Amino acid sequence: MIGVFGGTFDPVHFGHLRTALDVMQGVGLEEVRFTPLHGAVHRDQPQAPAELRLEMVRLAVRPQAGFVVDDREIRRAGDSYTVDTLASLRRELPQRRLCLLLGMDAFSGFADWHRPDEILKLAHLIVMHRPGEAGPGDPRMKLLIDGSLVSSADQLMAKDHGSILLHPVTQLDISASQIRKLLAKGRTARFLLPEAVLQLIEKNGLYSAYHTKEPQ
Ligand code: ATP
Repeated sequence: MIGVFGGTFDPVHFGHLRTALDVMQGVGLEEVRFTPLHGAVHRDQPQAPAELRLEMVRLAVRPQAGFVVDDREIRRAGDSYTVDTLASLRRELPQRRLCLLLGMDAFSGFADWHRPDEILKLAHLIVMHRPGEAGPGDPRMKLLIDGSLVSSADQLMAKDHGSILLHPVTQLDISASQIRKLLAKGRTARFLLPEAVLQLIEKNGLYSAYHTKEPQ
């Protein structure tokens, strides 16, 4: 089974990397495809250009066997819909099962995604907990979870698609917005993300006071 981990990755950080590794090893995935989105649909647009976010992810995943970068959303350009990404992967790899990795915050809004029912026909969902986060409050999510929740990786593997597994992951309270804020204040983000990623950020002056629109 292949894991698909989508996000803005603006920038990628150890919260993404460690939790993806927890899931890959805990569930027994063949690989995790980090898939940076091009255009965000449910949130603010990323600050860093797509090609640099992609390059940061390339640098970040390089040391870990089984971690792969998938640039199809960046190549497709425009708004990035997960359902299109999964459908295109399914066409490319018809024999492989797919699962979508997402944090609890992303999962909480899943009912409002573009064609969530179609997503569950193409893939399983693996939900990673972040520190202090409650489960989804939306009653539509309760319906979805009640029908699809499984409690082990074996149960997930038993079906081709449509199951939801909540997977415990290392609790790392790191977010890309926290990193962007630090950098905008002229502080370092060292030890929150890989050194190679930090060097690329510094080389390109990303997230500095000149480039940021976020409050400092
Ligand atoms: P931002 O702070 O800009 O919202 P982010 O750090 O949440 O960014 P994204 O690229 O938006 O990063 O996240 C991609 C996915 O990774 C989402 O599903 C999100 O829930 C998950 N994620 C991000 N940070 C963590 C973390 N520290 N632990 C577990 N999951 C995380």
